[in-house]
Amino acid sequence: MSFQVHGKDLLGRIGTIKTKSGAFATPHMFPVLDPHHRVLGREFFDRVGIHAVMTNAYLLKRGLQGLDPVDVHRTLDYPGSVATDSGAYQILEYGHVGVTAEEIVGYQEKINTDIGVILDIPTGFRSDALRARWTVDETVRRADRALEVITRKDILWVGPVQGGVHLEEVERSAREMAKRDFAIYALGSPTELMETQRYDVLVDMIVAAKKALPTGKPFHLFGAGHPVLFPFLVALGCDLFDSAAYALYARAGRYLTSEGTQLLGDMVEFACACPACVDASPEEFMKSQGEEGDTRLVQHNLWACFSELRRIREAIRKGRLWELLELRSHAHPALKECFDRISQYSESLERSTPAVKPHGIFYLGSSSDNRPEKLRFVSKLSGSVEEKRKFVLVLPGRWRRPYHEDPRYESVAKAFDDNPKVSICFYSLIWGPVPIELDETFPIAQTEGPDTVGPVVLRERAKTVSEFVQSLQPRGVILVSDGPFGRAVKTELSKTFAKRSLTVLNGESLKPDAIIKSASRKLVRNA
Ligand SMILES: [Zn+2]
Repeated sequence: MSFQVHGKDLLGRIGTIKTKSGAFATPHMFPVLDPHHRVLGREFFDRVGIHAVMTNAYLLKRGLQGLDPVDVHRTLDYPGSVATDSGAYQILEYGHVGVTAEEIVGYQEKINTDIGVILDIPTGFRSDALRARWTVDETVRRADRALEVITRKDILWVGPVQGGVHLEEVERSAREMAKRDFAIYALGSPTELMETQRYDVLVDMIVAAKKALPTGKPFHLFGAGHPVLFPFLVALGCDLFDSAAYALYARAGRYLTSEGTQLLGDMVEFACACPACVDASPEEFMKSQGEEGDTRLVQHNLWACFSELRRIREAIRKGRLWELLELRSHAHPALKECFDRISQYSESLERSTPAVKPHGIFYLGSSSDNRPEKLRFVSKLSGSVEEKRKFVLVLPGRWRRPYHEDPRYESVAKAFDDNPKVSICFYSLIWGPVPIELDETFPIAQTEGPDTVGPVVLRERAKTVSEFVQSLQPRGVILVSDGPFGRAVKTELSKTFAKRSLTVLNGESLKPDAIIKSASRKLVRNA
C-alpha cells in the first residue's frame, strides 16, 4: 500500500491510495453499498470513475449468519478496492452489536477486505465529557487488541479517532492513535453535526484531530456524503469520506447538488447534465419513484458527489481551492459560517499552501483577507525593505502589474529606483503597501482584484499603507495621489507626518515628467 500526494492547496491534497485490489484517487468518497441489496452495477461505477466502495462488515456478517465468509468482492460483484466498516455506527444506533473487536477484525480478514476498520466506540454527539473520555480510552484499548490479532498486513487498517464535540478528547484520541501504526486515520461521529449544520464545531473537531496525526497518512471523515461540504472538508485535510446519503436521500426524493439539497417536487427542470438527468425531468423521476426511489436519482446523487470531487481536485491543481470555498460559502448562511470558521485557522492553511502556484489568484474582497497568500505577504512585509532610506516615494499600484511597469508611473518609478535616498512603495487595494522589493514576488503581480472597495475597507487599507511608511522612519514622504484611494492614503499619512515632511503630488493632473521634476526638487532641498 502507498499513499502518494501529487498536489496540495490549503490543507487539501490530491493523492493516490494503492490497495491490493487497485488504486484510486483522493479526495474520494466511498459509496456505502448495502451488501444485501445492490442497486447499481459495476458498469455504472466504472463510468463515474468510482474505484473504491464501502460496505458494512457487521451487517454482512449478520446477514450471512451460519454461512462461511465469502470474498466481499464477490458478494458485491465489485473487483476494485473495497473498504469495510466495522459496525461502530450500529453501536451508536442500537448501543450494542453482539460481536467482539477481535471477531470483527478476523471476519474482515476472511472476507478479503482491502481497507478494514477496527471496532471503535463512537462518542456520538450528546456524550458528556466523562463518557467521551471513556469512549476514547475504550477505542484505544480495542485498537491495541485489534493490532495484536491482525494477521493480514496486505489490508489497510483504519485507526478511528473519537472524542465527539469535546475537542481536548479529540486531540488526546488522535495523539494516542498516532502512536499506533495505522495505514489510515479516521474521525468519527460527525454525522449529527452535519445534519444540524453545526459546521463550526465540525471544523474545530477536524482541526483538533489533524493536529496530532501524522501528515503523511490519509485522513478519513466517517459519514460525510454531501457534495456541498466536500470543498470545506477537503480544505481542512480530509482525504476520504464514506456515505450512504446518496441512496438514502434518493428514497426521500432528495436531489443532491453542490449548492445544497433540492426536493424533486420543488423542481421544474434539471440544471445538471449528468447522464441520469440530461434528458429527463424532475416529474419523470417522481413518477417512477418506487420504494427505493428512482435509480436515476440514486445515480444523479452519486454523479453530484463525484463531479464535486473532480471540481475540487481541479481547484487544487490550479491553486484555487480558496476561491472555491468563497464561492460555496455564498450558497447558504451555514456554509458562510463554516467558511468563516476555517478562515480562523488560516495560519495552519498557510503552512501547507504552495509558495508559487501555476495560476494567479482572485482577490474577492475582505473574505479573501485571510487567505494564505495574503497572510504570507503580510508576514514578509516588515522584513522586505532592508535598508532604511531618507525618503519614501509612495506611488499608486493599480492598473498594471507588476506595479512598477504600469505605463502611467513607469517612468517615475524608473527615475528613482536606483536612488540611494529613496525607497519606493506602491499602494494597492488588494495588498495595502507593496514595497518595490516585493512587487514581482508571487502572487502580487498575478492577482486579479476589484478596482473599487467600500469606504471602510478603503480607510483600513490606507491606514496599513501609512503604518508601513511610518515603519521605514523616513525624513520625508512624497505621495503621488491618484483617485479615492490616493486621497485616503493622503489623509492617513497627514495624521502622522508633519506638513513639511509630506509632499503630495496630484497624479491625476500632473504628467510623469512634472512628477519627476517636483520630486527631485524636493529631494535636493531636503538633502
Ligand atoms: Zn444529474
